[in-house]
Amino acid sequence: MPSKKALNPPEGECRQCWLHAYDSREQHKHLKPRQDCPACVSHMGGRHPEHMIVKG
Ligand SMILES: [Zn+2]
Ligand SMILES: [Zn+2]
Repeated sequence: MPSKKALNPPEGECRQCWLHAYDSREQHKHLKPRQDCPACVSHMGGRHPEHMIVKG
């Protein structure tokens, strides 16, 4: 289970990136060693979909 912190990103943060950062082991356990996480890669360079950003 993701920690409470992992599920509660602060305002302005991307939910997916926050979750993948704070619950990294769990979120990335299905990947092969050294395989990049497609979800993380798709957000690289600050390309976070607007609906995933926490609003105040
Ligand atoms: Zn993101
Ligand atoms: Zn990821």
